[in-house]
Amino acid sequence: MTRRDVVIVGGGVVGSATAWRLARRGVDVVLLERFEAEHVRGSSHGASRGFRLAHPRAGYVRLAQHAFALWRQLEGECGQELLTTTGGVDHGDAAALRAVASALSSRRVPYAVLPAAQARYRWPGLRFESPVLYQPDAGRLHADRCVAALRRLAVERGAEVRYRTPVRHVGVDGDDRAVVRTDAEVIRARRVVVTAGPWVPDLIGGVVRLPDLVVTQDQPAHFAPADDSAAWPSFLHHVGTGEPSGGARAAYGLLTPGEGLKVGLARGGVRADPDLRTFLPDARLATELRDYVRGWVPGVEATSGRHLSCVSTSTPANDFVLDRAGPIVVGSACSGRGFTFAPAAAEVLADLATGSARTPPRFRLPYARSPLASHIADEAFKTY
Ligand SMILES: Cc1cc2nc3c(=O)[nH]c(=O)nc-3n(C[C@H](O)[C@H](O)[C@H](O)COP(=O)(O)OP(=O)(O)OC[C@H]3O[C@@H](n4cnc5c(N)ncnc54)[C@H](O)[C@@H]3O)c2cc1C
Repeated sequence: MTRRDVVIVGGGVVGSATAWRLARRGVDVVLLERFEAEHVRGSSHGASRGFRLAHPRAGYVRLAQHAFALWRQLEGECGQELLTTTGGVDHGDAAALRAVASALSSRRVPYAVLPAAQARYRWPGLRFESPVLYQPDAGRLHADRCVAALRRLAVERGAEVRYRTPVRHVGVDGDDRAVVRTDAEVIRARRVVVTAGPWVPDLIGGVVRLPDLVVTQDQPAHFAPADDSAAWPSFLHHVGTGEPSGGARAAYGLLTPGEGLKVGLARGGVRADPDLRTFLPDARLATELRDYVRGWVPGVEATSGRHLSCVSTSTPANDFVLDRAGPIVVGSACSGRGFTFAPAAAEVLADLATGSARTPPRFRLPYARSPLASHIADEAFKTY
């Protein structure tokens, strides 16, 4: 039996960022990761993730602003470029764009609305049929590099990171006492931060009451640009009904240098078991993606798609779960946009784990009164 102050279960981007934030505060923390360092079975692997300040709710814009500052801080500490600014565009459904514009305005984030013709001239690789919202701070996070930097800096600040260490059981032994069992040992800790991505329900669903978490297998693809010198913003197309997307809510994309233009369809709802998935692209979804690209991304070769496989975890309202029940803190930063927010979500989780003064009051409920069923809401971000 060993004793630690905080154990983190799961070393994706959220767990690794939480280790960094806790280690910076001088907390005794160990991160346990089930697989090897560069595994591809979760949600955080790969060369790129889009970063956006543009969200339809002001609370998320605020949290993204906080994340932006923390990504820049991480870059300063590790001496590497992690977030490349490319600018980003939203287009499509007018109501969705109005919500994004209103949320950006309320946070005084700069943006411009361009006529479709001007956007087509500026970014000829994309098709625009309606006004376009341009936000200049959007960009590309170098995903693998980010996760490696987070872990390295966490270790430099005193955290311990163990790979190939699956946690078999997490238990509660009082308000400030949790028990974590691996194959080799039993660890007692004041707090356990569970950031196990799609494995969260399996691991602690029987210990705390979780919201419904839907795990899906997503399959974006890299497409070869016709012109290597073309400028590509990251983009989010709020797809309207009747458009060629096979029923997806939105299409997203960004350039991954050396790999092509990554394009994916956000669908939601097709459940997958993270331990049983095949990693093979579903033929029907591949056809839908190819048809979307053929219709809306004229600057790439639609038949050149090379598919990626990644799991996504979502709540019904597309919110994050950042909450505490007694000694168990849960960080499930979900819904296809969790990478952007990871360091800010980690700061919330670090607050929950340490109970610092900046913890929003709703997260300070003692174990008996906190069923861990609430999703984070806008007002919870006020202190960030
Ligand atoms: C196709 C796709 C595209 C995306 N694009 C974007 C984007 O453009 N922008 C954006 O912001 N976000 C994007 N996201 C979302 C983002 O990548 C995820 O929200 C984020 O990576 C989630 O990280 P995580 O740390 O919560 O989970 P994970 O990365 O899944 O990490 C969980 C970790 O826990 C470990 N683990 C599980 N069980 C145990 C156990 N019992 N013991 C020890 N370890 C355990 C796993 O091995 C894993 O390493 C995308 C996601 C997908 C799938």
